[in-house]
Amino acid sequence: MTETHTDVCVVGGGPAGLTLALLLLRSGARVAVVEKLRSLEREYRGEILQPGGQALLEALGVLDGARARGCHEHDRFLLEERGRILINGDYRRLPGPFNCLLSIPQRHLLAELLDQCSAHPGFRYLGSSRCSALIEDTRQRVRGILGHGPDGELMVRARCVVGADGRYSKVRRLARLEYDRVDAFDQDVLWFKLPGEGALPADVRIFRAGGSPVLAYTSHPGSVQLGWTLPHRRYRDLAARGLDHIKSRLRAAVPEYAERIDAGIASFRDLSLLDVFSGTARTWTRPGLLLIGDSAHTHGPIGAQGINLAIQDAVAAHPALLSALADGDGDADGDGTGPLERYARDRRRDVRQIMKLQAVQGKMMLSTGGLAAAVRPRAAAVVSRTPVYRAVLGRLAYGNRSIAVRTDLFRPPASAGSGNLAG
Ligand SMILES: Cc1cc2nc3c(=O)[nH]c(=O)nc-3n(C[C@H](O)[C@H](O)[C@H](O)COP(=O)(O)OP(=O)(O)OC[C@H]3O[C@@H](n4cnc5c(N)ncnc54)[C@H](O)[C@@H]3O)c2cc1C
Repeated sequence: MTETHTDVCVVGGGPAGLTLALLLLRSGARVAVVEKLRSLEREYRGEILQPGGQALLEALGVLDGARARGCHEHDRFLLEERGRILINGDYRRLPGPFNCLLSIPQRHLLAELLDQCSAHPGFRYLGSSRCSALIEDTRQRVRGILGHGPDGELMVRARCVVGADGRYSKVRRLARLEYDRVDAFDQDVLWFKLPGEGALPADVRIFRAGGSPVLAYTSHPGSVQLGWTLPHRRYRDLAARGLDHIKSRLRAAVPEYAERIDAGIASFRDLSLLDVFSGTARTWTRPGLLLIGDSAHTHGPIGAQGINLAIQDAVAAHPALLSALADGDGDADGDGTGPLERYARDRRRDVRQIMKLQAVQGKMMLSTGGLAAAVRPRAAAVVSRTPVYRAVLGRLAYGNRSIAVRTDLFRPPASAGSGNLAG
């Protein structure tokens, strides 16, 4: 068995986990990240990053390097019905410099974060390693994890464990933290890419042409990412009718891509069905343990909020984790007064607001049926003209603006991440 001793063990090397790891390393903590995948490819997750997340990554010194690996800027978010624009979320009207939606492959963001983490001597990255159990002490405080990696069994002993392992979080289950799944949209998404052609559009669009709505945006380095929304569990019936049937439904749903659908989808292997849901864990902490990102609160693609929230979680949890480590005992006794519990209480309010907005957006954009179709254009016209709409756009773009990187907690480079943290 390989054994690692560290201050914080982060399970999951996604946007939440790696952002948190970098913040803690810069503050002098030792961090081990346990990530089950071998590569940084995350094809089935989102890649649209809102201005708020861009600003935080800039403050961390990560944005430029991630962008330099390749990305695509989008000016607007559009809801389009049969060629008519019902909602125009114009990001260029927001104050610069982060006045765009950035489509950036997750591997570019993760590679930059990982490179910067690796510059710290106190960092251990355990790739191809899966967490399978929690280590608890006699008072049921979490003290590390057990897992399995390329060299067999592994143990990471830590003063705090962070579950950043996404929507199907193993850490959440192992910690027996209950989770409420919300099938608010009752949708699955058929996720696929088509080759780009000519001038690539700089808009993220939801098309409503006929049949189910489709999300489309240009994805670096020049393809179009599409997500065809379907009622839950309908895909099996559609697939039984053959690939040509699915392609004809797709052509009807996005006529402007009809030719590329014919040329670009050759087999069922070009299509991936994703189960899209949202949800929240009822509790995000236990003594010695914190959940962040999708493991605490799960988000689908609507409104492109999940990565923003994951990065903001990391930034907001950073001082709380340092306080918990400084206590010397991981956290207080689970009586609601510990730094991790206070973080969770405050952050839950932000997340609840965003989830409500996503639910409204989902209803407005994805609902089908005669009544919805009749009401949508008028509702969209009214909503787009009100100041409330600008406030909503601001909230979706930035999230909670008071969350800022605590650079005052960073150590000089010589001691950062070297494992000399007090506590
Ligand atoms: C189809 C789709 C499209 C989306 N589009 C967008 C979008 O455009 N913009 C947006 O902001 N959000 C989008 N989202 C949501 C977004 O992808 C997530 O909210 C975001 O990735 C959450 O980040 P995270 O770091 O919390 O979790 P994740 O990105 O899920 O990362 C979790 C990590 O944990 C690892 N892991 C899991 N289990 C274990 C284990 N047992 N041991 C070790 N490692 C483990 C995983 O391999 C993964 O690397 C989309 C979601 C879906 C489903």
